[in-house]
Amino acid sequence: MQSTMQDAPLLISGIIRHGEYVYSEKKVFTVTPEGVEEATFFQISKRAEQLAAALTKLGVQRGDRVATFMWNNQAHMEAYFAVPCMGAVLHTLNIRLFPEQLAFIINHAEDSVIIVDSSLVPALAKIRDQIPTVKHIIVHGPDDSGLLGATIDYETFLSAESAGFEWPELDERSAAIMCYTSGTTGNPKGVVYSHRSTWLHSMASTTSNSIGLSERDRCLLIVPMFHVNAWGAAYTAFFAGTELIMPQMFLQGEPIIKMIRELRPTVSLGVPTIWNDVLRVAENNPSADLSSLRGIVAGGAAVPRVMIEAFRDRFGIDVIQGWGMTETSPLAAVSIPPSGAPSDVQIDYRVKAGRVVAGVEVRVTADDGTVLPRDGKTVGEFEIRGPWITGSYFGVDAPERFHDGWLRTGDIGSMDGEGFMTISDRSKDVIKSGGEWISSVDLEGALMAHPAVFEAAVIAVPDDRWQERPLCCVVLRPGASASADELREFLSTRVAKWWLPERWAFIESVPKTSVGKFDKKVLRAGYAEDELPYETLA
Ligand code: AMP
Repeated sequence: MQSTMQDAPLLISGIIRHGEYVYSEKKVFTVTPEGVEEATFFQISKRAEQLAAALTKLGVQRGDRVATFMWNNQAHMEAYFAVPCMGAVLHTLNIRLFPEQLAFIINHAEDSVIIVDSSLVPALAKIRDQIPTVKHIIVHGPDDSGLLGATIDYETFLSAESAGFEWPELDERSAAIMCYTSGTTGNPKGVVYSHRSTWLHSMASTTSNSIGLSERDRCLLIVPMFHVNAWGAAYTAFFAGTELIMPQMFLQGEPIIKMIRELRPTVSLGVPTIWNDVLRVAENNPSADLSSLRGIVAGGAAVPRVMIEAFRDRFGIDVIQGWGMTETSPLAAVSIPPSGAPSDVQIDYRVKAGRVVAGVEVRVTADDGTVLPRDGKTVGEFEIRGPWITGSYFGVDAPERFHDGWLRTGDIGSMDGEGFMTISDRSKDVIKSGGEWISSVDLEGALMAHPAVFEAAVIAVPDDRWQERPLCCVVLRPGASASADELREFLSTRVAKWWLPERWAFIESVPKTSVGKFDKKVLRAGYAEDELPYETLA
C-alpha cells in the first residue's frame, strides 16, 4: 500500500524561503574593522536572488562549481544560498590550506568561479596561475591590488540584477555543497553534500536533543564557514530563526569577549582551542561579560574536562560537546546529560563525545569487523551511517574507509548502554605500550587540569622495551612554572600507573591544523627530525 503523503523534494531553497517568510526581520551581524554591519534575513534572501541572477548571466550552469574563499560574513551567507539553490555546487575553500593543497582542491573540483574576500586576495594570488579551470574571480570588498588580474566587483555584480530569481525545482539528491577534508595525511578528499542531506542535517540541528538552535537564539558563529559549512549553522539559522554574529577574521580571545559583551549571543560554536583562549582572556578581564550565553557548543576535537568545569563554575555556562567529521556534515553526536542525571555526574557526561542525533546510527567494531558490545568498556573503531553521512568521496575510490555501507571514522573508543560515545583516540594517534592502549586524549585532558598548563598534546614515540610510549608536549601558562616531575606526580592520581609518561617536552605552543585542532603530525615530524627537545624522567 502506498502512503498518501506529499513528496516535495528537500531543497535548500525551501530553507531560505522559510527564513525569508517566517523570520524576515531576524538579523545577521558582520563584524568589520569599521564596526558591525547588519542585514535582515529578508535582505539576505533578496541579495541571494540577485547573486544567482548575476551568476546565471555570467554563464554558471547547473552542476558547475562556484567556490568561496571567504571569512564568516554576510556575503558568504548569500553565496551559501544562491549557489546551491540555483543548482550549482558551492565549494567552500579552506583559507588556511597550504598553496599546493589549495591549488589541488580547486583543480580537483574543477571550480569555474571563485568569490573571494578582498582581505584574502593576496593568498589566492599565490596560486592564480595554477588553476586553469577558474574563469572568473569575484572580489567582495574594495580591492585595487591588481594581484588577481581581471576581477569582478561583488557589489557591482549584484546591483546590476534585481531580486526575484525563481529557485528551480531540483532533484533533492543532487550535489549542493562540497568540502574537502583538512588533509592531515595525503591529499584532501572531497565530500559532496546533497540538498536532501543538508536539509535533514539542518532540521536535526534544531532539535533540543542536539544543539537546539531556535528563534530565541542569537549564535556567535566562530567555526569557519570554509570548513564543513560552519557545522551547518547558516542553514539551520534560516530554518530556526536564529540570528547570527559573523566574526570574520576577529577570532582571538579579546575580540570574541568584546563581541559577546556588545552583541549578546545566547549560544556560540567553536573548537576547544578557541574556547581555551576565551577562558584565558575572560579570567583576567573584569569587563568580560558572558552572561548572555545559555551555552557554548565545543567540538571538532576532544573537550578537556577542566574547560567544561571552568565555564560552569566561573561563568555558569554549560558546554555542549559535539562530535562529527567533514564526512558527517558534521553533526553526528551531541553530549547533553540525560534527564535526571545528578549534578555531580553532569560533567562525566559532558566530557564524552555524546549520543548520536536522531537519524544517525553508530556502532563500535573490532579490527576483524565484528560488532562489539555497548558496555562502556570494550574499545574499537566507531562506524557510522545515516542520510547525512557520506557514502563515498568525490572522484576517488577509498574502499578502506567504508565497511558494509558504514563509514569508518578512524576514531577509537567505546559506547555505553545509553549510547554515550567515549573517544580515546584517533586511530593514527593511538599509543600502544606493551600491546595495551594508552589514551592520548585522557592524558591531555588530565594534564590540562594542572593550573600551570595552558595546552598539552601527547604523541606516541618508539620505545625499545614497550614498542611505544607517550611523549607529553606541554605549553605552560605565561608566568607559570611546573617541572616534568611535578606534572607526572600530578598525573599519578589521575591515570593508571603504567601510563605515566617518562618523556616531556616544554614547547611555546602546540602547532594547529588549518581548522584550529592540535596538529600532532607536526610534533611527530619534529620528534623524528630531532627538533623537539625533551627530557626523560627515570
Ligand atoms: P574534521 O573532518 O577535520 O572535522 O575532523 C574530524 C575528526 O575530529 C573526528 O574524526 C575526530 O577525530 C575529531 N573530533 C571531532 N569532534 C570530536 C570530539 N568531540 N571529541 C574528540 N574528537 C573529535
